[in-house]
Order: sequence, then structure tokens, then C-alpha cells
Amino acid sequence: MSELVRLSAAETAARIAARDVSAVEVAQAHLDRVDAVDGKVHAFLHLDSAGALAQARRVDAGELTGPLAGVPLALKDVIVTKGLPTTAGSRILEGWVPPYDATIVERMRAAGIVVLGKTNMDEFAMGSSTEHSAFGPSHNPWDLSRTPGGSGGGSSAAVASFQAPLGIGTDTGGSIRQPAAVTGTVGAKPTYGGVSRYGLIAFSSSLDQAGPCARTVLDAALLHAVIAGHDPRDSTSIDAPVPDIVSAARSAEITGMRVGVVAQFKGEGYAPGVLARFDEAVATLEKLGAEIVEVSCPHFDYALPAYYLIAPSEASSNLARYDAMRYGLRVGDDGVAGAEEVMALTREAGFGDEVKRRIILGTYALSAGYYDAYYGQAQKVRTLIARDFSAAFEQVDVLVSPTTPTTAFTLGERVDDPMAMYLADLCTIPSNLYGGPALSVPCGLSPDDGLPVGFQVMAPVQADERMYRLAAAVEVALGTDRLLEQAPEL
Ligand code: GLN
Repeated sequence: MSELVRLSAAETAARIAARDVSAVEVAQAHLDRVDAVDGKVHAFLHLDSAGALAQARRVDAGELTGPLAGVPLALKDVIVTKGLPTTAGSRILEGWVPPYDATIVERMRAAGIVVLGKTNMDEFAMGSSTEHSAFGPSHNPWDLSRTPGGSGGGSSAAVASFQAPLGIGTDTGGSIRQPAAVTGTVGAKPTYGGVSRYGLIAFSSSLDQAGPCARTVLDAALLHAVIAGHDPRDSTSIDAPVPDIVSAARSAEITGMRVGVVAQFKGEGYAPGVLARFDEAVATLEKLGAEIVEVSCPHFDYALPAYYLIAPSEASSNLARYDAMRYGLRVGDDGVAGAEEVMALTREAGFGDEVKRRIILGTYALSAGYYDAYYGQAQKVRTLIARDFSAAFEQVDVLVSPTTPTTAFTLGERVDDPMAMYLADLCTIPSNLYGGPALSVPCGLSPDDGLPVGFQVMAPVQADERMYRLAAAVEVALGTDRLLEQAPEL
């Protein structure tokens, strides 16, 4: 393996800026790494070698500069890219080539970031393992028989297997943080509205948020800073200054910080090894000068059921646009069949089982006579959860929990058991419902199975800098920026 692929994003950019190495050499080293290992990992759905090298040449020519200029990135295939296929992991979008770039893609390109290609994911970001991808699952670099998490398992697997120092994920209920936790990487969901959703293929519009995947907290913050900020093309985009996340990630100073441990996220259903590492991390924070407080958020237990009404309801509406007329696949159009028949045949063939399950669930929850009992009720629960957060953040600066109840599970183990799959997001969903930022940083390997454990930090809306500050402290104290050195050779 070239030593270039082991560098962090910050180190890579510094070496390119110092002309120690060229951006083209860096891009080529990563493309070679993809060539060598992605047959086993299956992180990428499409590689854009020519586009990556062309962008790297522009960086070398001095046309594009910035703190991440020349750094390669793996982009989740739910973000639209002009001229480059975008499938959202679905057959229904096979063959579709978007005519425009998402805002975050425009921003990354202008900053000199080198997009290597598009990464695998659960279809329309519905899942926790990448097994709902229409193009086959991705594999966890720590153990190829296990999932790298989902839905953004492709980006996390790419980052964890040194195919790219940076990745982009999207998080509706945990799809950045859960894959980060189970692959030993860092993943952050920004405050809802902090990063533009223009060009993010919608799953559940009131919850979806794009964010960074990386191997260090600082790298995640640097990427977050590039993609964040107001966008008039997204009506939910926040028109206010972006919190100073990069300085926070550089400072690991947490003396006097009040850290709330969520009482609801412990105990039954949690693997002992996960809890052991989590408790150690909390004890370490206390030694570093943080004040630890146990906090109760009684409505968090209802977050999962509320999410599985709200998200499918919004999905059933968002996915109505795949009607065989506008995008991708068209089945049964023999010139005789009517439009409705073509739509039905296309949707039957183009969507996988999990997506169909969600559309049916969401349509039911929104239907006349059931709306108040299901969707309306779930929205009330969402409000109660938001109140829990507000009350908790009056007592503490951040909340912490394990990111996931268990380490990476085996491929095949939960794919036929939707409830077991959904439980992977038990701890990550509440912050999507509230809209606040949350991040997962590795806190070591589980004594149960030697697999990575994630530590989740949640912060109030628009206080993203707090989670980076605390995560940096965890990373420095536990040395987890070097955790991936312990992963087996591929
Ligand atoms: N696993 C959750 C789901 O299936 C979350 C997905 C996500 O965050 N995109 O809905």
C-alpha cells in the first residue's frame, strides 16, 4: 500500500500545498488502492478516474486552492453529480445521468476536492447494512463477512479501507453515524439546515442531512466547513454563520464542559463490550475535567416508532416522482400499454422490497381515517422529543451515548428481520427528529469481538462546534485516530 493513502486529509492537503507531492500522484495512489481492494470491499458503484485526474491537474496548476485542495473523496450515490451516474442504490434510477451538480458537489469541486466516484448504499438510503442496495452489499474492512453499516456503508468502507481519506454520507436516522461506528471512522450529521439538501435525492425531507466521513475528527470538521453554509436553493437552509467547527476540532480543551449521559441508551439490548468501551470513554472525559451528569430523556424510547411513521410517510410522497416518465427505468412501454400500467410495472420492477415496504407503510399512515392516529401522533411524539432535548440542554452542554447498541453484525443476519435492522439506529434517530447535530467518534475495540465501537456526541441546534470539541478530546485521549492501524490487511 502506498504511504500516500495512509495520510489524513489535512496531511495530504498540506503536502500537496508544499509541493511535496502532486495532487495527480495522490489521486493515482488512491485509484490504485481502489483497484487493489475494492473487489473485496465493494465500496464503489461508479469510479470516475478521468474526472478525478482532471480535477487533480487543476489543483496542481494552482487553479483551485484551499485547506482540502487535492484530497480524494468518496461520494455517496444519493448526491447528484452532473454527467456522472447517480442511482441512490436503486434499479429505478439505473442509467440516469443528472444534468446538474448538488450544491455540496459544486462547493467541493470549487475547493479542489477530488471526487473519486460514487459509493454504494441501501436503496434510497433505507437500511442499516447496505444489503438493501440493488447492486449487492458492501463489506466491512475489519471483517469482510460483516456489514460496514448503512445506509452509507460504501463511503465508510472506502474511508476505513484507505481508498479515500474523506467521504460524504447522508443521515436521516443514522446513516452517517452508524456506518462510522461499525467501521472505526468518524461521521458527523450537521444541524438540520446546516448543509444544503439541493441535489440530495430526498428520502425524508424533514430529516435528511448530508455530512462528512473521515478517519480523524479534524478531517471531518474541515470537510464539514467546505460543504456548510446558506444556500438559497434549499428552503430549509439556515441563513446564519456556520459555527467555528474547525477551531473546535483543533482544540481538545473540555475543562468544565458539562456532559450528559443519556440514561435511556444503556442496558438491555446493548452488547457488554460496547457499554464497557463507552463507560471507559466517559471516565476518561471526567479525568480530562469534564463534568459528567446522568440525564433522563423519557421520550427517547418512542423515537424509533415515531421515526418509522414519519420517515416512510415522507418517503411515500417523495418516491411518487419515480413514475417511469421522468427518470431512469421504464418497463412495459410497448406503445400499447397505458401510462398507469407502465408506471405500475416500472415501480414493481424498479423498487426493492424494503422500499416497497416503506411506501406501503407511509401511504397507510397518511391515508384518510388513519392520518391522526399514525402520522399526526408521530409528529406529537417528535415535539415531545424536541422538548426532552431542550430540557436536557439546559443542564448540560452535550449529550453522549454509544452510537450503536452492537458492533458490526454479520451480512445476512438481519436482512429478513426488519425490526432487528431498525434497532441499529436506536440511539441515532432522536437527533434527526430534533434537528440537532450529532457525531460518532471511535472509542476503541470491543473486548467481545475486537470490532470498533462508536461514541456518539449530540449537541444543540447550531452548536456543531461543541460536538467536534468533545470528539477531539476523546480521539486525543484514546488515540483512536490511529485505530485503523489495527485493522487486518486486505
Ligand atoms: N437505518 C435507518 C432507515 O433505514 C436510517 C437511514 C438513514 O439515515 N438514511 O431508515
